Order: sequence, then structure tokens, then C-alpha cells
Amino acid sequence: TEVNIVKLCLDVVTVFNGAYNRSIRVNRKEQEEILVKANKDQLKQVVYSLIDNACKYSEAEIIVTISVVDKNVAIAIQDFGPGISKEEQAKIFDRFYRVDKARNRDNGGTGLGLSIAKSIVEAHKGKLTVSSNIAEGSTFTVILPIVIDH
Ligand code: ATP
Repeated sequence: TEVNIVKLCLDVVTVFNGAYNRSIRVNRKEQEEILVKANKDQLKQVVYSLIDNACKYSEAEIIVTISVVDKNVAIAIQDFGPGISKEEQAKIFDRFYRVDKARNRDNGGTGLGLSIAKSIVEAHKGKLTVSSNIAEGSTFTVILPIVIDH
């Protein structure tokens, strides 16, 4: 089915804004509607996991930016948390991998969120990438092909 990625992101953010006292800002430069061919529940889970991580690992505001790049949509989830070293960036998408297990123990994660998110995105012919600097924060970006003509 065709899923409007703008609405899907806004719906997920609404859940977080209602449940936690966090400031999540959504930037969208383009249309009201950006369609992708997708399993809606699975994509919701991806966006949910990435925002959930941003909430768990940072205190400040979270920025979600939706933009169109060529024939793809990019959903960038940016936080201003501790960041992830280049070495760890190579491993965080592995199943059960968690950075600094002692530090994270209280967060009660399983280390599965990102590996599941990555396989869902790849099953949709997309990409999930991270860009991060220690002490500055992290940006996780989901790239998915847009439905062009319908
Ligand atoms: P869960 O499976 O419940 O999400 P988790 O958060 O430990 O548990 P992943 O989502 O797979 O598992 O993340 C793997 C690791 O990557 C985390 O343990 C954390 O160390 C690191 N990580 C993920 N997102 C961020 C982020 N936004 N900022 C800093 N570190 C992060």
C-alpha cells in the first residue's frame, strides 16, 4: 500500500509529545503528502524506534526533518545527546549490540531496535544511516524511494 510519510511521522511524534514531556520539532520543507510503497505498521515501528532512542539517549530537543532528495524521501531524526564514536557506529546496527553496557543498563534496552529498523528499511529498498560526533549528538536518516506516478 501507499503510505504518506509526512502524516506517519506527525502521528508518531504526536504519540511521543503526548506521552513524554519532550520537545520534538518536525521540519518539513515540501509537500503535505509524500507517498512511499510500504508496510505502514513496519515503517511506524522504524520511526518510533529512532525517536525512542533519541529520547532515551538525550535530554534536549529532538528535530525530525522530512525532505525530498531526487526520487527519495529522507527522514532525519536529530538529537543533541552524547553522540556515538566512529568505531561504535559500525556496530550499533548489529543484533544485541549496545554501546557502554554499564552506562545503558538502566535504560533497559535489548540492543535489537536498530537492527530491526535497518532490516525493515532495507526490505523497503531504502537505507538507514547514522551521522554522529561525540558530545555533539546523532542524526539517524531513513531514505526511502518515493512513489512517482500513480
Ligand atoms: P532497544 O532495542 O530497546 O532500542 P537499545 O536502544 O539498546 O535497545 P538499539 O536501538 O539497537 O538498542 O541501539 C543500539 C545502541 O546504539 C544503544 O544501546 C546505544 O548505545 C546506541 N544508540 C542508539 N541510538 C542512539 C542515540 N540516539 N544516541 C546515542 N547512542 C545511541
